[in-house]
Amino acid sequence: FQPIVDLLEQRVAGAEVLFRWHQPQRGLVSPNEFIPLAEDTGLIVDIGLWTLEASGRQLAQWRAEGRELSLSLNVSGRQIPAGLPVEVLRDALCRLGFTPAFLALEITEGVLLDDVEGALNWLTAVRSQGFSIYLDDFGTGYSSLSYLKRFPVDRLKVDRSFVRDIDKDPSDRALVEAVVAMARSLSLEVVAEGVEEAEHVRLLHAMGCRYLQGFYFSPPVPLETFNNIHDQLPEMLGKALKDTLRDSS
Ligand code: C2E
Ligand code: CA
Ligand code: CA
Repeated sequence: FQPIVDLLEQRVAGAEVLFRWHQPQRGLVSPNEFIPLAEDTGLIVDIGLWTLEASGRQLAQWRAEGRELSLSLNVSGRQIPAGLPVEVLRDALCRLGFTPAFLALEITEGVLLDDVEGALNWLTAVRSQGFSIYLDDFGTGYSSLSYLKRFPVDRLKVDRSFVRDIDKDPSDRALVEAVVAMARSLSLEVVAEGVEEAEHVRLLHAMGCRYLQGFYFSPPVPLETFNNIHDQLPEMLGKALKDTLRDSS
């Protein structure tokens, strides 16, 4: 779980679920290595179902504890539409008993390219069940703007390649600022990925970006560590923002 921080409510809003493979001989294998392989072999479908089940259980537990936390799952093109049909999502919802709005599916615009009609139907069905859709790695594809118009999504995740240098590069800063402004006028929320420095937090806050994710707060961690981060957040935010956050809220 990698925490996603809500600057407006000054709390950890939830986490992105990032799959890990502990291979007995090689140790921890990076998803950048095994996800493409899983996509080629079709195993990504089972990984997706496993992740959905585990995430749904966790959301149900948080709900039972009265904690309002959300999770977002990565979904590959190979899973859409038949690998992760809306019936399967609905079934998980009924069996496990979580709130659909607290489960988001992260897709990249690439998944929308191959089968436009199929992807659009899938998106519409998934959202009509109350699940959220995040457009991942936003800005790295070719046709983001036209896709935003055609495909219904809830949040944009600004790719970390744009966030990384906002404290040094005025054009990266201008790009992120423009994405935040555009999202606002389309009533979309923005998550900035790859937040690594206190200065990133300060600048993104000043731009009006509500959600932040990155190593500054935490890398992806197991559940127990996630809970600790959750408790330490006010102190971390305090350090990054000093009194700017208090003055502007
Ligand atoms: P992604 O969806 O763009 O996930 C974000 C990646 O950025 C994660 O790498 C995360 O650890 C890393 N990251 C987060 N914050 C920072 C930061 O501040 N600085 C830097 N340098 N990196 C940061 P990870 O966990 O290695 O995952 C890589 C990719 O593998 C993911 O990229 C996603 O496309 C894919 N992936 C991971 N889990 C799953 C899964 O369950 N299903 C599918 N289909 N894909 C997955
Ligand atoms: Ca993602
Ligand atoms: Ca991403």
